[in-house]
Amino acid sequence: MSPVRGVVRKIDHLGRIVIPVEIRRVFGIVPGDELDIALSPDGEGISVTKVESTCVFCKGTDTLVDFQGKLVCAVCRKGVSATMPVSG
Ligand SMILES: [Zn+2]
Repeated sequence: MSPVRGVVRKIDHLGRIVIPVEIRRVFGIVPGDELDIALSPDGEGISVTKVESTCVFCKGTDTLVDFQGKLVCAVCRKGVSATMPVSG
């Protein structure tokens, strides 16, 4: 695997780094967004993934609830439950 070199940043005394503006633009990262920081799958690096905080259906941000790991807004949740077959 060839090494990928991006923008080099120093970590500060509190362990913080600044995400380069070029990267923030690509991923639409704005102040207040949440980032998930984890070991990369190969365990040799750090993976930073933007946490999506919009409805999976309409991309709305109102009254989001977690549904099996996905965020769904109140309007779409009503639509989903209205189209679900009634069991039993
Ligand atoms: Zn929605």
